[in-house]
Amino acid sequence: MEINGRTSVCGLIGHPVEHTLSPVIHNTLASLLGHDLVYVPFPVEPGRVADAIKGADALQVLGLNVTVPYKSAVLDLLAEIDTLAGNIGAVNTLVRTKSGYKGYNTDMEGLYRAMQIEGIKIEKERIILLGAGGAARAVAHLCALKGADTVYMLNRTLDKAEQVAEEVNGVAGRQVVCPMLLQEYTRIPDGQYLAVQGTSVGLAPHDDRVVISDPAFYEKIHTGFDLIYNPWETRFMQLVTAHGGRAYNGLKMLLYQGIIAYELWNDVQVKEQDAQIIYERLETQFRKS
Ligand code: NAP
Repeated sequence: MEINGRTSVCGLIGHPVEHTLSPVIHNTLASLLGHDLVYVPFPVEPGRVADAIKGADALQVLGLNVTVPYKSAVLDLLAEIDTLAGNIGAVNTLVRTKSGYKGYNTDMEGLYRAMQIEGIKIEKERIILLGAGGAARAVAHLCALKGADTVYMLNRTLDKAEQVAEEVNGVAGRQVVCPMLLQEYTRIPDGQYLAVQGTSVGLAPHDDRVVISDPAFYEKIHTGFDLIYNPWETRFMQLVTAHGGRAYNGLKMLLYQGIIAYELWNDVQVKEQDAQIIYERLETQFRKS
């Protein structure tokens, strides 16, 4: 593309940002849609995030993605926060407005769109959610918002699962999230579940790790969605498939969180055929790295 005096700038702030796949999503979209826009990763040193947001506003940066470790730290620096993002307590997308940046959480909308594309339902489902960290907490909010029947939230540290359950059930006004210790999985009632793997266990280079390896656990899972996409097929996914379930990795979640951010920045609706082109580029880029 040719950069000129009118080129809009979007970017990513985080630490580190060197391995991000987000430029593939946004720069491909700009090219497919004929937008005069460029997306650049900006590494932000610890302690400098307020300077980064202020500077971006002054430079009229159209939009930003926010990644680890600033997803919650930026909340106090925003002019406005979308309701879902406020409930989750984390944002990953900032949109520039006249009064400053407005924060959104497109990670969760992205996960939801990825699930819809794959034909996975949350509504009225009984769900097992592994983990209670930042990502799992957001998934719990999403499940409650979309009308899940029950979410058994299993975590190594019970306190954290209890805190998330209290918070999500409070917002939902009903008992959706049931917090449990990881090793209490045998207490989950018999039945068939959607399971979301939201811990960091199994992330490369520790590909052989998984939080629960008991085959009896996997007999209960009709669909397993791992938020991890590196490795391409996690141990959790292998165990789900080995017991007859369908398994998905987190790359489509990454794809759609980016697409939704792009839609917010540019006030457009991205077509599914363009999403597919980007997905193929992401997969190629991922396999090269
Ligand atoms: P986090 O806040 O650090 O939470 C980590 C979670 O993993 C906690 O529940 C933690 O349990 C659990 N855990 C860590 N080590 C463990 C161990 N040895 N045994 C049992 N449990 C363990 O991380 P996060 O931000 O939620 O991210 C979680 C995963 O989601 C990451 O792998 C990340 O790559 C992925 N993710 C993917 C996308 C996407 O677009 N696809 C987006 C966001 C995140 P404790 O509470 O007991 O410490």
